[in-house]
Amino acid sequence: MFRSPRGTADILPADQPYWRYVETTAAELCERFGYGRIETPIFEDAKLFNRSVGEATDIVEKETYSFKDRGNDDLTLRPEGTAPVCRAYLEHGMHVLPQPVRLYSIHAQMFRYDRPQAGRYRQFHQVNVEAIGSQEAAVDVEIIEMAWRLFAKLGLRNLTVVLNSIGDRSDRPTYIAALKRYYEPLAAQLCGDCKRRLETNPLRLLDCKKETCRPHTEQAPRTLDFLSDSSRGHWNELTASLKTLHIPFTIDHRLVRGLDYYTHTVFEIVPQEDGAQSTIGGGGRYDGLIEQLGGKPTPAVGFATGMERIILNLKRQGIAVPGQRGITAVVVHLGDGARAHALSLASSLREQGVTAVLAPGGKSMKAQMRYAESVGAAYALILGDDEVRQGVVAVKRMADGSQRQVAMSEAAAAVR
Ligand code: AMP
Repeated sequence: MFRSPRGTADILPADQPYWRYVETTAAELCERFGYGRIETPIFEDAKLFNRSVGEATDIVEKETYSFKDRGNDDLTLRPEGTAPVCRAYLEHGMHVLPQPVRLYSIHAQMFRYDRPQAGRYRQFHQVNVEAIGSQEAAVDVEIIEMAWRLFAKLGLRNLTVVLNSIGDRSDRPTYIAALKRYYEPLAAQLCGDCKRRLETNPLRLLDCKKETCRPHTEQAPRTLDFLSDSSRGHWNELTASLKTLHIPFTIDHRLVRGLDYYTHTVFEIVPQEDGAQSTIGGGGRYDGLIEQLGGKPTPAVGFATGMERIILNLKRQGIAVPGQRGITAVVVHLGDGARAHALSLASSLREQGVTAVLAPGGKSMKAQMRYAESVGAAYALILGDDEVRQGVVAVKRMADGSQRQVAMSEAAAAVR
């Protein structure tokens, strides 16, 4: 027997109402904020991610699904959505459009070779939002507001925005030097990953969750103390605007996010209860990324949230979502003559907007009625030779067993 590959999941009909709810809520919200939908391929040139996400990040070091195709091209299944959208921005010359260009994706499959657990998969789906071409703090605020409103609109409660600024590339060297000075004497006590990070990607030392390293992160130098005047101005405007909009946030100096391309604002949205896999969404500013991909310097800011994580939280918080529309009518038929008419009746009901299916053929009336009951149909429409001769159909309401006869042409009206 085959099973779905480790870390992947089938999305079955019973779960579709959750997916549809998240998709429609997110799409409505994004359009309300003036964002246009974009869809990019699920695989890209492998170099796109090496160059953007960063060679020394967990994602590129350990988590990509990369392969050579039959034409010998190096490809990677996308592990995140920002770099592909920036690639599309450049490829389609979107710099000539009014800036910022506001783009969103929904139900975008992502692939990371991660250790699967609750809320963490190897194939998962994101809602992504990117605003490319503005450095204004007001656009950072817009992105955080979108994230915040999305979760509120979905009905999720008890979420916190965690916020930090990691400055820009000119603030970075002095900060990294201070961070290294702080960590070097502690090197012997750090986990293996952090020993390596000290050399390859010191910023990541701050978000190590291991118990050996966690206490050291508390005392580490803070990026906010190393901001230039202009970075500080951006930060002050951001925090003041969030207060104006009554979006609550807490500042965590250890928040740096996993990807190399972030500058200035970084944020995550976390449920107040529990758990290592609790981050539900995150994002930030990435002013250097477009240039890194070969474009002119172009500031940008974005946000991503995992749809599986949202659905996990919806279920955990017992939030009801609009249900799947059930089957209205099952057409029950007895005898060979009635079968052809039953087929036409079911077809004509569907044409008239009624959800209708044919009961399995060659079974007794009792078995067909059981079928109608088991699929939760509201009505059974019964056709035997007598009914066919008279051009009528028996309409049985499943809820109370009441039955009446109507003309075949009135069947749709009778079940509406
Ligand atoms: P990241 O790009 O790692 O910040 O991820 C953004 C969001 O995507 C996270 O907040 C999660 O909601 C979701 N996410 C990231 N990795 C996974 C995964 N392996 N499985 C499911 N959701 C994920």
